[in-house]
Amino acid sequence: MAQLLETVPEKVLAIYAHPDDPDVSCGGTLARWARQGSEVHVVLCTNGDKGTTDPTVDPSQLAIRRAAECDEAAKVLGLTEQHVLGYGDGELTDDEAFRGELVEWIRRLRPGTVLCPDPTAVFFGEDYFNHRDHRIVGFAVLDALSPAAALPLYFPDAGPVHQVETALLSGTLEPTVWVDVTATIEDKVAAVSCHRSQFAGDGEWAAGAVRMRAAEDGKRAGVAFAEGFRRLRLSV
Ligand SMILES: [Zn+2]
Repeated sequence: MAQLLETVPEKVLAIYAHPDDPDVSCGGTLARWARQGSEVHVVLCTNGDKGTTDPTVDPSQLAIRRAAECDEAAKVLGLTEQHVLGYGDGELTDDEAFRGELVEWIRRLRPGTVLCPDPTAVFFGEDYFNHRDHRIVGFAVLDALSPAAALPLYFPDAGPVHQVETALLSGTLEPTVWVDVTATIEDKVAAVSCHRSQFAGDGEWAAGAVRMRAAEDGKRAGVAFAEGFRRLRLSV
């Protein structure tokens, strides 16, 4: 029997690579928890300045456009705050400096639940393999959560230690829990639709894809629409 996650976390932090990633990966869950009173923060690692097929686009202009799309989507989901680290698209490195920055955010915001990409999900059928930035963010967040953020001798200048209790990994091939997003699926569709730089036309295709994915997860979870996650319960 699929396990539905019913508890409402007090404080949530979602850490993702690109401006549209949180909305696509877990927008229904973030909107649900925001409506239920959670404090919901998002950290975006890159500014998405290479996310286009058009060679005439100026990267800095694209970054500005995507930041505006993000602000719009954050309002739709009801996010508490969105923080942008501003790395270039495709330029993330899983190094000490990046992990230290993530540890600082985790210790500063002190969430009980953190959402991030599942970095072990690499190949999705024959059509898609997971973006390098998603894989890097996934592993860097995991390593920042445990043990780094929770132990004082890791990054001693990054604030007082904090142990995150639960990590929820989205885009996973092995989901273990689901969040029922039936009540917020249209908020997710609306948030994804804000990222107009990322799709051609009016976004109807993107909206349909969002509903279809959530309906597939919903079938596995026994509800109309759901988002699935690999759950990790963390402790020192
Ligand atoms: Zn992405």
